[in-house]
Amino acid sequence: MATPPGTRGTAQSATSHPQVLTGAKLVLPTGTIPDGRITVTGTKITAITAEPPHRAPHGAADMIDVIDVSGHWLVPGFVDLHNHGGGGASFAGSAQDVLTAVRTHRAHGTTTLVASTVTDDMDVLVRQAGLLSELAEQGDLAGIHFEGPFISPCRKGAHSEALLRDPDPAEVRKLVDAARGQARMVTLATELPGGLDSVRLLAEHGVIAAVGHTDATYEQTVQAIEAGATVATHLFNAMPPLGHRAPGPVAALLEDERVTVELVNDGTHLHPAALALAFRHAGPGRVAFITDAMDAAGIGDGRYLLGPLEVEVSEGVARLVEGGSIAGSTLTQDRAFQRAVTIDRLPVEDVVAALSANPARLLGLADRVGSLEPGKDADLVLLDDAFEVRGVMRKGAWVVAPDLA
Ligand SMILES: [Zn+2]
Repeated sequence: MATPPGTRGTAQSATSHPQVLTGAKLVLPTGTIPDGRITVTGTKITAITAEPPHRAPHGAADMIDVIDVSGHWLVPGFVDLHNHGGGGASFAGSAQDVLTAVRTHRAHGTTTLVASTVTDDMDVLVRQAGLLSELAEQGDLAGIHFEGPFISPCRKGAHSEALLRDPDPAEVRKLVDAARGQARMVTLATELPGGLDSVRLLAEHGVIAAVGHTDATYEQTVQAIEAGATVATHLFNAMPPLGHRAPGPVAALLEDERVTVELVNDGTHLHPAALALAFRHAGPGRVAFITDAMDAAGIGDGRYLLGPLEVEVSEGVARLVEGGSIAGSTLTQDRAFQRAVTIDRLPVEDVVAALSANPARLLGLADRVGSLEPGKDADLVLLDDAFEVRGVMRKGAWVVAPDLA
């Protein structure tokens, strides 16, 4: 029996018998098949076939839920490497706040999410790392990204200057330890004293060293990559611009095959031409579309906090009350998808790579999430022809019930 429409937003647990979705445009790692059939058993994808949509499934039909999703896209659940909150709550808050933010983004297709912190006192960050690591152990989060405090005062963005510090490897280690195996990424200004040693330390511990909020030169950034940095934190934002005599971090990060570049595709952080330039240069395998979302994502305009700083959100753009710096985004990954396909005119397959496969691989989770393949978690996003979310499944359970009206 198909899940009835009109139950959008309600969570349901995975059914015990297989669910079959037929007739979808399935975006697979090998390309898109127009009339695909995907079988979900328990929490996993168990079969994918290219079959006519209306053929009866094999076996006892009454033991199988068949949902005809003809005319819709099915893509893997999105993976967000960089996200500070949503639904009016932040990852700097209580366990309840964290879950509110997680659920908000799940309803927009983000089935795997790394919680990002912002610069604060070390004690506060250590405490928050403890809370976030518990939620990661429970499977609610895919780990922690520490953005700051080891960043440049010249490129601080929406981080409080008084709390910034140089990346002393001992302090970096303290945060990694506080995350009890759940630290996935640290954004740091690698040109500061202790920066390169901190990159090496992170690489040794299997934590991604991300170059960001940096005032580094091209040469200094090359050194950071040589030391083991593999991600560019929101490329272009909070770093020196690309100059023809001073190409800066942007050129170094874009040209190196070992680096994945984060892009915030909300139409505010990047001009579409800058996004296109980066996407073309890095190629579809080295881009991760992130949200860098803050509390207002999924809610709307108003006054919010980003860490200790006050933020005013107006017409969907978040800026610090003091100084007016862009303070994260109100983006959700379904909007990033929609923009990428309809405004940036990128191929759907490349967009799926940037939203799912590439970040999953970076996080070392590619054996479980990030693509539609038998054996992977049944994390699915159902999209209509306008690329609006019409359903979200996470580990075999509908987070947003299919709305095929
Ligand atoms: Zn951020």
